[in-house]
Amino acid sequence: MIIDVHTHTPQYRSPVPPERIEIFDKWRPDRPVQAIYSWEDYMAAMAPVDRAIVFPIAWVAGARTGGVTGTELGLDAAEPLDPNEATAELVRAYPEKLIGFMSLHPHDAGAPAALERCVRDLGLRGIKLGANYQNFDPLEDRALAIYARAQELGLPILFHQGTSPVRNAPIRLAHPLIMDQIAIRYPELRIIMAHMGHPWQVDTITVIRKHPHVYADISGLFYRPFSFYESLLKCAEWGSLHKLLFASDYPISTPEENIAALRGVNRIVEGSALPRVPEDQLEALITRDSLKLLGL
Ligand SMILES: [Zn+2]
Repeated sequence: MIIDVHTHTPQYRSPVPPERIEIFDKWRPDRPVQAIYSWEDYMAAMAPVDRAIVFPIAWVAGARTGGVTGTELGLDAAEPLDPNEATAELVRAYPEKLIGFMSLHPHDAGAPAALERCVRDLGLRGIKLGANYQNFDPLEDRALAIYARAQELGLPILFHQGTSPVRNAPIRLAHPLIMDQIAIRYPELRIIMAHMGHPWQVDTITVIRKHPHVYADISGLFYRPFSFYESLLKCAEWGSLHKLLFASDYPISTPEENIAALRGVNRIVEGSALPRVPEDQLEALITRDSLKLLGL
């Protein structure tokens, strides 16, 4: 069983119109990324995994899917589609494979009601937040109210952690040590710290090792091969490899790329006396039952 805990909702149900294709070259150092993609692109990339968690991100309070309408997605509505509804549509089409999370903006006055509706009407089972992208203080009251309710309802929260190339996203708001404060306050809340908090992987390790319900995902790391090796090795030295979850952050990378990178991570030290990341633990990471750990 392979579970990808971090993927992004496609913008289009049907093939992306050529004029809407966007290529980003700052998301990873080794190749550009197609940022607008279809259900078919998404499902093709997910072929190697058994289950995947998929979510949108509410960039600003009251945000919708960048003006993409339901009609463009092959749905009936001409109104711009709520990103959580777009996610629920996709999950309904592939219920045996996909689990949908919602995105909320804590500054949205309707966020608490949206949370209830996403659970009750849309069947979404967790939350994605990115305090840097969404520009909220992760310790402010409106954010804490969301964590408190998520803990009550058993909804895991995946937080973007660490840096990002988005110029107006304050990096400080996504520093991994903030998660320690949240986990102390909400000890039963299941938390996924994305990207091992890059480039603060060691800070992330200090948080996941002490909180039983805090995990980190390995997406966004392999294309910096030395950092990737170093992060996994340090995590092994701190006895915390069992707290890492498999993830791709599709469309930034694919599950296939991440599986190959994990299996090949020790190639960088071949012919040297440097320690290897234990291969059996890498294989355990790839096949980890993350859904069980997250209570899903
Ligand atoms: Zn992501």
